[in-house]
Amino acid sequence: MLIDSHGRKVSYLRLSITDRCNLRCLYCRPQSEWVFLPHEQILTFEEMFELVDVAKIAGVEKVRLTGGEPFARKGFIPFLARLHAKYPSLDLRITTNGTMLAGRVQELREAGVACLNISLDTLQRAKFEEITGVDAYGLVRAGIDACLAAGMRVKINVVALKGINDDELPEFVDFARDLGVDVRFIEFMPIGYQSRWSRDNYWPAKDIVAAVEELVPLDEVREASRNSGPAKMYRIAGGSGRIGVISAVSNHFCESCNRFRVTSDGKLRTCLFSDKEYDVRSILRDPQHSTQELLELFARANQEKPMGYRLLQDRQTNQVCDRAMTAIGG
Ligand code: SAM
Repeated sequence: MLIDSHGRKVSYLRLSITDRCNLRCLYCRPQSEWVFLPHEQILTFEEMFELVDVAKIAGVEKVRLTGGEPFARKGFIPFLARLHAKYPSLDLRITTNGTMLAGRVQELREAGVACLNISLDTLQRAKFEEITGVDAYGLVRAGIDACLAAGMRVKINVVALKGINDDELPEFVDFARDLGVDVRFIEFMPIGYQSRWSRDNYWPAKDIVAAVEELVPLDEVREASRNSGPAKMYRIAGGSGRIGVISAVSNHFCESCNRFRVTSDGKLRTCLFSDKEYDVRSILRDPQHSTQELLELFARANQEKPMGYRLLQDRQTNQVCDRAMTAIGG
């Protein structure tokens, strides 16, 4: 079991399937020139499978597949189906930009997927293109509709961007209420080289909740499960949808952090705000390697897991680590 000196237990793995993405979101991957990792540096699905096997042995109960855009990698849905078939009780989740979902929902259902997190930062087509660089709002909406029609649970992730999408709060509240989905506002985090984060575009969670409360009465929900995550959720009066906030900057949840992240090139990161990485790939690619070696690497990494908020407090620039979100997986 991976328990560190602060008593934190790792039970959740976020695995980045690819660093490639079809969108260029201004908060995630701001550079105009972007060099993708060469394919041979990316873990194969076989290697990812082994990684999940070992993570399970180490006590991981929940795995989130993210990216880049996970659906941009060929073979992703068969990989999901294989994982689900081997570990039916594993809490298997996906975070996607939703642009490649329509037409694949049946296949996803058959692969065992019942719930998706879909990123959508605006409900306006032109603004969507301004934020992401691509005119794909209609594709995302079609993907959401297809998931809901197939009975899947959908959570919407909105990066809270002051001066960009704060004017759309009433529309997002209606969206959550009318569609019966969770809409979660994630505080903009100063992650990655040349991050566009600034005090001017940072919209803190407490201000978001206060602004929603001016629109509708909210009722805070207490999540019971250990793996329910850091979102603070509120039921909206008069509908089945919920609004939530993830206060990664203003109110850190380092004491209860239960996560490990593995990048698509096989680097283990114990903290979103730290660039310290552990090389899982070179162990996986050593023909003589053993499960024990991977478990020992996990244990060592976990012992060195920092309290990330301290790194955030100490940062001197508008970024807290070098790798972009698209490489880390959010
Ligand atoms: N392509 C997928 C997607 O768009 O959801 C998965 C990868 S994306 C990096 C994962 C999540 O990280 C998304 O919900 C995205 O909005 C969020 N994200 C990316 N950069 C962020 C930042 N600087 N601050 C807060 N959230 C961010």
